[in-house]
Amino acid sequence: MPIQADAAGCCCMVRGGNIGQWASCTARPDFAAVWTAHRPRRRWRVFLCAQHRTRVPGARELTADDRVALLARRRRLAAARDGSGWVPPGPLTDSR
Ligand SMILES: [Zn+2]
Repeated sequence: MPIQADAAGCCCMVRGGNIGQWASCTARPDFAAVWTAHRPRRRWRVFLCAQHRTRVPGARELTADDRVALLARRRRLAAARDGSGWVPPGPLTDSR
């Protein structure tokens, strides 16, 4: 199951549609974790729904900080969709 590290919701991709393409999971993200991508090697804050929480080790309930980060991603996504600009989310920096 692919992970979409910069998702503004659950980071798991699920098979959807009648030809089974991968799509973002739309379930409510109630958990967060730090996930490490391999190429390039980066650490990301990812969000997970209750069904997918075990897909990333160390998933925990959202903290206040996670909720702020999730809201920021949703705002960025909304800005991209309404044409006011796309600022892609970035990986966690080493200092965090
Ligand atoms: Zn999910």
